[in-house]
Amino acid sequence: NIPVITIDGPTASGKGTVAQILAGKLHFHYLDSGALYRLTALSVMRSGINPDDTGQIASIASSLPCHFEKQRIFLEKEEVTDAIRTEAIGNMASKIAAFPVVRRALINLQTGFRKAPGLVADGRDMGTVVFPDAELKIFLTASVDVRAERRYKQLLEKGISDNMDSLRRDLIERDRRDTERKEAPLVPAVDAVTLDSSVMSIDETVERIFRLFVQ
Ligand code: C5P
Repeated sequence: NIPVITIDGPTASGKGTVAQILAGKLHFHYLDSGALYRLTALSVMRSGINPDDTGQIASIASSLPCHFEKQRIFLEKEEVTDAIRTEAIGNMASKIAAFPVVRRALINLQTGFRKAPGLVADGRDMGTVVFPDAELKIFLTASVDVRAERRYKQLLEKGISDNMDSLRRDLIERDRRDTERKEAPLVPAVDAVTLDSSVMSIDETVERIFRLFVQ
């Protein structure tokens, strides 16, 4: 059985960074499941279809022409690594992620990332829905203030300057939507280990998870 480590948690909890470093350390594959929801959102926006037409959105999701090359993300031949990181796409992603048919349409794509020697998968429902038999499940949290500041810095690094207050509001709103939705809500799996990254550095967090995995 190919081992999977799942890292779920709210927006900007540091799960993406932690998951990538951990995957590198273990020479495992890496799945950024949020990117799949973002890619679907970008395709929906561009195609101009009605954002409430769940059937059409699911059909886009089930045949996303995407591929990943190291840190870079492509939709057909176009690199969209930065294009999918805007708050507008993040918000749209969390809206369409509430539709059960859309979530179901992305399941096979996600489980397909489970390849030898192993996988580190980050998202909201990796441990609860997509990889319920994962070897190790982490729920990574952080305070709203720490997360808003992280998101602010991440966007600045990409040359996007946003207003801290509106960022904070968006973050709280997105978490609320992710937590309150009926299908695959953002909750820790019963067998998950919860870690708070507001009180640990990225390296300490990676080290903790690494030790939990190899012990
Ligand atoms: O993690 P990221 O911010 O890129 O995810 C964007 C949105 O996609 C989240 O707000 C969430 O609504 C949705 N998502 C999800 N399930 C996942 C990963 C992301 O519903 N496994």
